[in-house]
Amino acid sequence: MHFHTSQNSQSCLLASSVAVLQAEKRGSSTGVGVGELIWPSPSDGTPFWKKDFPSSGVSPEVFADVKDSDPKHIIHVTAEMAPIAKVGGLGDVVTGLARACLSRGHTVDIMLPFYECIQKQHIKDLTVITKYNSYHDGNWVPTTAYRGVVSGIPVIFIEPSNLFFKGQYVYGGSYNELEAYLFFSRACLEWMQQVTSTQPDIIHVHEWQTGALPLLYWDIYHHLSLKKPRIVLTIHNMEHYGECSKEQLSKSGLEGSVYASIDKAVDDRTIGHNPERLSLLKGGIVYSNAVVYFGILNGIDITMWNPATDIFLPVKFNDQKPEGKKFCKYYVQRGLGLASEGTQDGNHVPDITYKAPLVVCITRLVPQKGLHLISHAIKHIEELGGQMVILGKASDVRVQTEFEGLAKLHNQGPCIRILLMFSDELSHMLYAAADMVLVPSIYEPCGLTQMIGMRYGAVPVVRKTGGLADTVFDMDDQSNHNKANGFVFEGIDEGSLNCALDRAFTYFREKPDEWNGIIKKVMEVDNSWNNTAGKYVELYHSI
Ligand code: ADP
Repeated sequence: MHFHTSQNSQSCLLASSVAVLQAEKRGSSTGVGVGELIWPSPSDGTPFWKKDFPSSGVSPEVFADVKDSDPKHIIHVTAEMAPIAKVGGLGDVVTGLARACLSRGHTVDIMLPFYECIQKQHIKDLTVITKYNSYHDGNWVPTTAYRGVVSGIPVIFIEPSNLFFKGQYVYGGSYNELEAYLFFSRACLEWMQQVTSTQPDIIHVHEWQTGALPLLYWDIYHHLSLKKPRIVLTIHNMEHYGECSKEQLSKSGLEGSVYASIDKAVDDRTIGHNPERLSLLKGGIVYSNAVVYFGILNGIDITMWNPATDIFLPVKFNDQKPEGKKFCKYYVQRGLGLASEGTQDGNHVPDITYKAPLVVCITRLVPQKGLHLISHAIKHIEELGGQMVILGKASDVRVQTEFEGLAKLHNQGPCIRILLMFSDELSHMLYAAADMVLVPSIYEPCGLTQMIGMRYGAVPVVRKTGGLADTVFDMDDQSNHNKANGFVFEGIDEGSLNCALDRAFTYFREKPDEWNGIIKKVMEVDNSWNNTAGKYVELYHSI
């Protein structure tokens, strides 16, 4: 399949519409200005998001307009990194922040478990650096450290010889996850101090999975030769805190009972229901030099999320030349078998400005994300004559079953698709195809999907909470008209959501000029790391 670039003008769009019709008569291949576009169909042997895509070769150079004086060496120790081991926003944040700091002149490495599910072809120059032993539960576990480059960032992969990190997915393998991350946290420090004598300025840990590293650092490794590093912990989401027994913590080589007090790793939340349990996140908070709870807003990596160059898009576009977005919508509608003018009536030139707004919701299917509002949106969008695609992954069996039921009910129809999986490729195409991106979270520390949606010209419809309230401003709020860039609702009830969707649909259908204005405006919003990486750099210096 050939993909082509974004120089489509309006006339090219019309010409290609004619070509679409001709192609439908011939088969399904058509010339569209530059190159050849093959329209997908649900009956394709390989779904359109699983085709071979050219490799992106993303380099860090794009942010290079700012260089910091006194550059630091930062090692991120993390359970996720986009795109090779991504489950949600954590993966995006680590990769985006690391690339931003690299390009500002810092030295940055990422240390990641070598999950069995990582696709090795996405790692450049993968080589074994060393084999060493790291402590776990009375044994020294033979461990291999690899080096490779992902999205321009040097990555060190830690692979224990036991069962840890084996399985089809990043999380949920048939090993004890808490113990695996305790092992990983120690194995990273062991690698720095014992194996390579690396003394970074900053060890930046994320979430509960690496919450024990600050304890291990200050109580074991700092007494050995690892003297220089300072520790930063970023909490992306407080919901999970790594509940841990004293015995489990002792498996890392620390004496678990030492940490069983409120000034160390006992947390108010565990006291309530399980007094003898520790919280790795609480321990991490106490033992880190600085803790970031989204006081610093996230950014998005504007190279990886760029509709003008995105390797996954059938047609590229940007705020100056937005026409390609319509092709992306038509492409996705065709590929998923959603109603589109072209497929409804093969006898006239397809009107790819078809008037059904397409709403997408790309999310982990967990209560935080407003599950009842997501499932209600399906019904309401259908009633309004719109289309909706949900790309979601559930980890809870009950949620999975509920959404499977909804998928069964709707997926054969013309306007709703519920796709229960994780697909980075499809997510890119959906953002590009969408008229609106729905984010009805109950709480949302920052939220990336509204920002990515905006960059791809999808107007956000969000609940007013956390980072969503910081980045989306309602079109009908007269007091803030300059910033207005989407539709916002406050309640967690269905009526509040309906009202925001109704208003968005009215703009889409009845005020096309204003709608096009919003699209242009959201695409111009700068939510890049350029804005926020500097705040992290200041923090690194301050400690
Ligand atoms: P969270 O970190 O709570 O999951 P964010 O909005 O911060 O939420 O980040 C979500 C990230 O994960 C976005 O990049 C989004 O595109 C991606 N994502 C979520 N679910 C899926 C999925 N099922 N398939 C592909 N990407 C997904």
